[in-house]
Amino acid sequence: MHILITGGAGFIGSHLAERLIAEGHSVTALDDLSTGRVSNLKAIADNQAFRFVEGNILDLPLVQEHVDQADVIFHLAAAVGVKLIMDEPSRSILTNVTGTENVLKAALKDKKLTFIASTSEVYGKATKFPFSEDDDLTIGATKNLRWSYACAKTLDEFLTLAYVREVGLPAIVLRFFNTTGPRQTGRYGMVLPNFVQNALEGKPLMVHGTGDQSRCFGHVFDVVESLIRLMDTPAAQGEVFNIGTDQEVSIRKLAETVIAMTGSKSEIQLIPYSDVYPVGFEDMNRRLPDVSKLQRTINFRPMRTLATIIDDIIAEKRATGLH
Ligand code: NAD
Repeated sequence: MHILITGGAGFIGSHLAERLIAEGHSVTALDDLSTGRVSNLKAIADNQAFRFVEGNILDLPLVQEHVDQADVIFHLAAAVGVKLIMDEPSRSILTNVTGTENVLKAALKDKKLTFIASTSEVYGKATKFPFSEDDDLTIGATKNLRWSYACAKTLDEFLTLAYVREVGLPAIVLRFFNTTGPRQTGRYGMVLPNFVQNALEGKPLMVHGTGDQSRCFGHVFDVVESLIRLMDTPAAQGEVFNIGTDQEVSIRKLAETVIAMTGSKSEIQLIPYSDVYPVGFEDMNRRLPDVSKLQRTINFRPMRTLATIIDDIIAEKRATGLH
């Protein structure tokens, strides 16, 4: 099959492209390189089955051209990361709303199988744990621009499910929880690459707030495995899935683990949110997915441990010095 990955030069997209090519598919990666990197694609750049197109998902004719050539579309291109969203809120909203609208419009023409990347952020400040796909979503006030990411992705989900219902578009919504591993950059506020980088350089690990807030980290290889299986599962079409692990860790514990695993002399510094983000910034204390629907549907659940993830990031950073 020929597969289009928007955001294919990004962290998840580049791993997915490699895996699809290894499975015998051909892949086009469409990416504007705003946060992605050509170097992420070096393992497949010269492969006959791979093509990189530098372009923007806001360019509808370009999107249509590449959707028309594909059998399956993974729409991963987005403005990602709390820091980026807070620094460039309007561009992020337009990318995440209009960009997705373009991909869906293009896919409608021949009803192509389309995956739409959403996020655990859509659960917002929900307090029922674990988060299940049909739970209510609770986001904060519009003056707190952090919530624009959740809101844009929620609208993407609504539009996807509306096309599923109205015209039978075979689409699948992917609610990614924290996905991490080699190639993820720390430049836009992603916690684990930053912790590992600072630990290796002997710099302090900056923990926002008390550090008691917890997250669940999934290895990108497990996430990619989930996507490959969903592609081959017709029963998944029209559905929303939490994608991630339910192994919970506090951010303070995460920092301690990274320090121990790197053998670093780095210290942990607690930084008030107000030193990093505008007044009124809200973070979620906990984000725990119910992954039973994913497991039931594809007979797989992301299993790689946090220690494996950290090991893999350390190995990559030691080998490349990448930040
Ligand atoms: P990433 O930043 O590495 O990938 C996003 C890619 O999209 C980048 O390569 C970027 O250059 C590209 N892009 C951005 N705007 C574009 C535009 N207008 N036109 C074309 N390309 C554009 O991030 P990622 O972690 O690989 O995220 C992939 C998807 O998964 C995103 O939709 C994101 O919202 C979602 N997601 C990721 C996580 C995670 O923990 N990594 C969590 C929740 C959701």
